[in-house]
Amino acid sequence: MQPVPFVIYADFEAITEKIDSCRPPDQKSYTTTYQSHRACSYGYKVVCHAEQIYSKPVQIYRGGNGKKDAIEKFIVKIFEEVKSCQKVMKKHFNKPLIMTAENERDFQNRTSCYICGEEYSDGDQFVIHKGKKIKIINHPVRDHCHITGKYRGSAHNSCNLKLRLEQEIFRIPVIFQNLKGYDSHFIMQKIGKMIEEKSICKSTLYQNKWGEIEESKQKIDISVIPNNIEKYVF
Ligand SMILES: [Zn+2]
Repeated sequence: MQPVPFVIYADFEAITEKIDSCRPPDQKSYTTTYQSHRACSYGYKVVCHAEQIYSKPVQIYRGGNGKKDAIEKFIVKIFEEVKSCQKVMKKHFNKPLIMTAENERDFQNRTSCYICGEEYSDGDQFVIHKGKKIKIINHPVRDHCHITGKYRGSAHNSCNLKLRLEQEIFRIPVIFQNLKGYDSHFIMQKIGKMIEEKSICKSTLYQNKWGEIEESKQKIDISVIPNNIEKYVF
C-alpha cells in the first residue's frame, strides 16, 4: 500500500426543516415524519501530505436564499479539486530516480524483492506456455518514489509495475469528520441520486466515425468505505 498524496477533509452542516402534518381525526395514535434534514453549508480542505505547498486553504460555502444547493455545489467543487490534484500529480509527482552510492550498493546486494518479500530465483525468468519455455521479464529493478525521486528498494519488475498502476488509478479519499448517523444518509442518498440521473458525470469529448465531435457522459466512480469515521473515495 502506498500513502495517498492528497486527502480532502470535509464537513456538512444541516438544518432541520419542519414538515407540516395533522393528526388523523379518527385515530388515537399515529406515526408521521415531522422534520427533514437539509444540507445548508459545507467546508472542505485539500491537504497534500506529500508536499505541503500543494495543500489549499479551507473552502466554505453557505447556501440559502436562492443559492445553489450545498450538496450539488459540493460535488461540483470536489470534482474540480480532483482534476486539479491530478494535474499536480502528473506535473510534479513524476520525478526521475536519484541513486546515491549507498542506494546502488543496496540494489546490487539485495537477494529479495522488498515489495512481495520473495527471494529472486532463476524460476522467475521463464514460464511454460503450450510446451514452450517463454522468457518473462521479472528481473530486479530499482523502485523509486515518484514524488521525491528517492530509491525505495530492489523489487521484481512486475511488483514495481503493480505499484505504478495503483498510482495511475489514483483516487482521493474524502473524509467527513463529523458526519455520523442520519446526517450522512441523506447526503449520500442525494449524491447517489445525482449519479444515477447522470447530473454529475465524467464528460469526455471524442470524434465519431463521421469525424464529428461528440460528448460522452460516464457515471463517475465513487466508492464508499464504511468506517468509524465516514470515508468516501472519489
Ligand atoms: Zn516482488
